[in-house]
Amino acid sequence: MDFRLSDKEQKLWERAEEFTREHITPRAHILEMRNEFPKEVVQKAYEAGLMNLHIPPEAGGPGVSLLAETLVSEATGYGCAGMATSIMCNNLAFAPLVIGATIEQLKEHVEPLITGKDAKFGSFCLTERKAGSDVAAITTRAERDGDEYIINGMKCFATSAPQASLFTVFASTQPELKHKGLSVFMVPKTKGVKIGHIEDKVGQKNSIQSEVIFEDVRVPKECLVGKEGEGFKIAMMTLDKTRAGIAAIATGVAQRAVDEAAKFANIRHQFGKSVGRFQGISFKLADMGARAAASRHLTRYAAWLADNDLPVSKDSAFAKFFASDSAMLNALDAIQIMGGYGYLVEYPVEKLMRDAKLLQIYEGTNEIQRLVAGNTMLKESVNLDTGFHVKYDGKDAPMV
Ligand SMILES: Cc1cc2nc3c(=O)[nH]c(=O)nc-3n(C[C@H](O)[C@H](O)[C@H](O)COP(=O)(O)OP(=O)(O)OC[C@H]3O[C@@H](n4cnc5c(N)ncnc54)[C@H](O)[C@@H]3O)c2cc1C
Repeated sequence: MDFRLSDKEQKLWERAEEFTREHITPRAHILEMRNEFPKEVVQKAYEAGLMNLHIPPEAGGPGVSLLAETLVSEATGYGCAGMATSIMCNNLAFAPLVIGATIEQLKEHVEPLITGKDAKFGSFCLTERKAGSDVAAITTRAERDGDEYIINGMKCFATSAPQASLFTVFASTQPELKHKGLSVFMVPKTKGVKIGHIEDKVGQKNSIQSEVIFEDVRVPKECLVGKEGEGFKIAMMTLDKTRAGIAAIATGVAQRAVDEAAKFANIRHQFGKSVGRFQGISFKLADMGARAAASRHLTRYAAWLADNDLPVSKDSAFAKFFASDSAMLNALDAIQIMGGYGYLVEYPVEKLMRDAKLLQIYEGTNEIQRLVAGNTMLKESVNLDTGFHVKYDGKDAPMV
């Protein structure tokens, strides 16, 4: 086992770290006060080759591994989770297309968005007001009409929707089949696609979410991704992979909290010594460091599993909930270590706490991640022989 990154991965990591130091960290705080999409920074990230990394070369992208993609997410997340989400928004928006669309579809709809001079955006439209964790409750409808589909419905929380040129829309083609009746469509910004209410959030203000309303939107039948009824499967396959990206942003946040807290604990003196010398503080720092390191390992392992086409649902769920819980805990501990200064807006750690909270919620809440992991573990346990046999009435209990 070799924990070192390959030369190519190491270079990408260094490029992303340098980009973060130069363009993200110094501006994260000022830009978040504007509560708008950080267009300039995202454009620079696009020019630096840090976006659209998962698009295959046949459709104009670099087609790097998920592991390499997580390096960029971690490095940018260290500077600002909101900007990282904006830079990575196409990872989520285009992932269902990379999974389910043909190369011809990718060439027609995605390649023009990732090869021009200016950064262009996609938006992943799954969630609705009454369908959050319960994806099967989606009511957006897509009805076939000759060679077209007509789409009607409303999505919410769609990241980068106001900036998007292409919407990846999950809609029901057969409502009576519930989740088996869901399909996924590539919808260009066309007549009938409207941006609704823009959400005002407590954190990750450098990323924008809004409602998207689809009113009699007509798209050619060629905009269907995969087959009718494959939407739920494609959504789950997408989230299995993209969860590692959220875990990577969370790892960046968790590490930033460690670094800011350690730096402060060294400098701040009370009772004649640096506060880091008090065991109560150094133990906290050690726990924070271990959480960040464990988050990184879980994340990279999940990405490696996905890159090698191995089952990844359980491990990407582990990575997502552990890393985002760690980001939250580390942010809280960093505030505590910095005392009153940690609570000031001019110090960076209160922002980490506001940003980290979202990591526990979006792309599947951490309760849903635990459900995914727990259910997989129960299934795996059926074939598990621990050498111990549960007995009922003196006989081995049947495994069901
Ligand atoms: C800033 C932001 C960005 C987002 N970006 C996007 C995006 O780009 N595209 C998109 O489609 N969506 C996006 N979302 C939506 C996000 O994925 C959902 O908010 C999330 O999946 C939870 O859905 P919900 O908010 O409706 O909560 P609900 O599903 O209503 O859940 C409420 C609570 O109940 C819990 N719960 C629900 N079901 C269960 C269960 N079976 N077992 C245990 N607990 C359960 C949840 O964990 C949660 O604590 C975004 C959300 C936010 C806030």
